[in-house]
Amino acid sequence: MNKLIYLDYAATTPVDPRVADKLVQHLTMDGIFANPASRSHMYGWQAEAAVESARKQVADLLNADTREIVWTSGATESNNLAIKGAVEARQDRGKHIITSLSEHKAVIDCFEYLESKGFSVTWLKPDSNGVVSSENVLSAIREDTIFISLMHVNNETGAINDVYKIASIAKARDIIFHIDAAQSTGKLLIDTKVLEADLISSCAHKIYGPKGIGTLYVRRKADFTLPAQIHGGGHERGMRSGTLATHQIVAMGEALSIAQESMSVEQAEISKLKRLFLDCLGEGVDFKINGDVNQSISGILNLSFPGKDGQILLSALPGLAISSGSACTSATMSPSHVLASMGLSDEAALGSLRFSFGRFTSEEEVRTAAETLRVVLIKMA
Ligand SMILES: *Cc1c(COP(=O)(O)O)cnc(C)c1O
Repeated sequence: MNKLIYLDYAATTPVDPRVADKLVQHLTMDGIFANPASRSHMYGWQAEAAVESARKQVADLLNADTREIVWTSGATESNNLAIKGAVEARQDRGKHIITSLSEHKAVIDCFEYLESKGFSVTWLKPDSNGVVSSENVLSAIREDTIFISLMHVNNETGAINDVYKIASIAKARDIIFHIDAAQSTGKLLIDTKVLEADLISSCAHKIYGPKGIGTLYVRRKADFTLPAQIHGGGHERGMRSGTLATHQIVAMGEALSIAQESMSVEQAEISKLKRLFLDCLGEGVDFKINGDVNQSISGILNLSFPGKDGQILLSALPGLAISSGSACTSATMSPSHVLASMGLSDEAALGSLRFSFGRFTSEEEVRTAAETLRVVLIKMA
């Protein structure tokens, strides 16, 4: 079972060996292991320097200032800090907040929590391609709207929202705008000098870094102070306490630095893999693309197979590491909330699979995977 073809990059990526090298240099006695908050000895200073150099790598990718980067344990925590923090900071101005039905659970659950605390939520419905339009956002804004949170790239379909346009709409109305960029960081251009969002969540493990580390970009010139959601020690300029995980942090910095260098070439190559997969799957088999290939990220392809059950398909494809629905919800067999929000029936949603490609996917793997799927579909027809 060691020869699975891994096509689940949207769930997590393997750590790039260059990143893993960097990580292990920050663990043991002969490496940089000390607490970056230890100010009384050189080991501590070395760890602090390593953390700050990684912070610069993240800031560079986002064209941001290092003071705008807060370390967290991942995008789930970044989303919690951004959403609960921003709403707490602005609750005196209004109670209306906006998000979409196709967000990651880490956003949806925060909004449901706030709804239970008395906030009024508008849940925007994406179009049939999974895209939340700026017109849709604009028409949901009210006098008492204080906060909008939308994802850049959807983790199930790859659909890309025009966050640049939405950010300027929010900015013009002095509404705090947060972007869940877990799937786009290091893959699409996020230039905070142009993109007027106040808060941006990222994590390392979708971009060849380790799990358990992420960042929240917090705009310095924003006219609100983000209250901490985790207290204890006042690390990260008071926004997030806890001893910094030096090894994870340097690994994230390295992963994002590699991504910055390779982004445009790599995305073009992965795009070709997606097209190759669709070409190899070919005609004569019945499938539908959930989303618009021209308005989605290169690495993610969500297909529905009319009349088929995703779980049965999965078990007929033991050589492929792929997902039905999203990894986070596939423990329960309910149809994907993302596909449902695009208007797919329960049956169509349950008959869908997500294929996601990445840095270590070869053309041969793509051909083999598509051919395997093709044979299974023809057999089942
Ligand atoms: C993976 C993911 C998250 C959660 O990130 P973690 O670092 O695993 O907590 C949030 N949002 C999106 C869109 C994701 O793809």
